[in-house]
Amino acid sequence: MQFIDLQAQRVRIEEKINKAVKDAIEGGAYIMGPQLREFEAQLAEFGQACHAIGCANGTDALALPLMAWGIGEGDAVFCPSFTFCATGEVAPWVGATPIFVDIDPATYNLDPVQLEKTILAVQEQGKLVPKVVIAVDLFGQPANYPEIKSICDRYDLKLIADSAQGFGCTLNGKHPVHWADVATTSFFPAKPLGCYGDGGAVLTGDEELVEVIRSIQVHGKGKDKYDNVRIGLNSRLDTLQAAILIEKLAIFADEIEKRNEIAARYNKGLRSNKVSVPHVIEGGISSWAQYTIEHPDRNGLQAHLKEKDIPTAIYYPIPLHRQTAYKDFPAPLSMQVSEEKASSVISLPMHPYLDRKSQDKIIDAVTSFN
Ligand SMILES: *Cc1c(COP(=O)(O)O)cnc(C)c1O
Repeated sequence: MQFIDLQAQRVRIEEKINKAVKDAIEGGAYIMGPQLREFEAQLAEFGQACHAIGCANGTDALALPLMAWGIGEGDAVFCPSFTFCATGEVAPWVGATPIFVDIDPATYNLDPVQLEKTILAVQEQGKLVPKVVIAVDLFGQPANYPEIKSICDRYDLKLIADSAQGFGCTLNGKHPVHWADVATTSFFPAKPLGCYGDGGAVLTGDEELVEVIRSIQVHGKGKDKYDNVRIGLNSRLDTLQAAILIEKLAIFADEIEKRNEIAARYNKGLRSNKVSVPHVIEGGISSWAQYTIEHPDRNGLQAHLKEKDIPTAIYYPIPLHRQTAYKDFPAPLSMQVSEEKASSVISLPMHPYLDRKSQDKIIDAVTSFN
């Protein structure tokens, strides 16, 4: 049994992928080829955004808008501590300071009440200027965008939806970019919409921002290719990966449905007085990058499942504010929920091609552990 079975998906669309790869290689436009433009248009449509911009990975996708907005020294970028490090990493890249905020215990996502308190604490200190909030759709489920957005409006902050794990998730039928200035995603192979290498994208409705990001991602190019008008970087999505992603996007909605069916079965079979199953925000549909439960003896459960050949993973064992590289950015308020979750969460196998027999085996193995 595999934690995420990428080969099952490849086999499903093998012929289409092979043809797409062959066409892209024969086409010869390896950088910024027509498949990239086609994929960007399809991705924007899927994510309900006016524009999508392919880039090199999901981390660059977060950094590009920060660079475009001129975020830098003296600026505060608020983000959850219970997330993959890339969310917090991009603030120091541009010279800004990541300010960690605790999470909602039910959803693992940014707690709006804590967010506002943290913004006020930073304002009170008077050393940094609040500028940006990065909300994360952790494990695939949408953050509380209506509340986070109204806080951003109140304090005049930009909002980024880090949807690297959550691309495809919705809240009341709307994708995160409905509320966020920018939504980002990652095409790292294990993400819900992954390619066969590294890749990422920025989605936005802001046309001016698109122009600046398209310049930054190609070394700050101006109208003339050899007149660079700003300091940029090299962050493009390969034509080959775009060609692969076109085929994967075509089955993505179906895959999200399959993930939701599996999650519903897991929920039903696993809920007990020891095991707490995921709680998706009301009106939300998760893209289930991970199916994460909590157990008081998480490590014991992991060993028990390993014995039965069931792979698991711990996302995340150490919240960012506790990690060596982030010690210089102490969280202003309590991170109690993030710390508790780090010691009790465990993620079970989750992918659209997990058959019923395997699901039942996993459910039996978890429920047989006391
Ligand atoms: C994977 C991930 C990223 C970064 O994506 P890469 O493509 O690996 O750079 C950013 N944020 C979150 C929450 C992620 O899970």
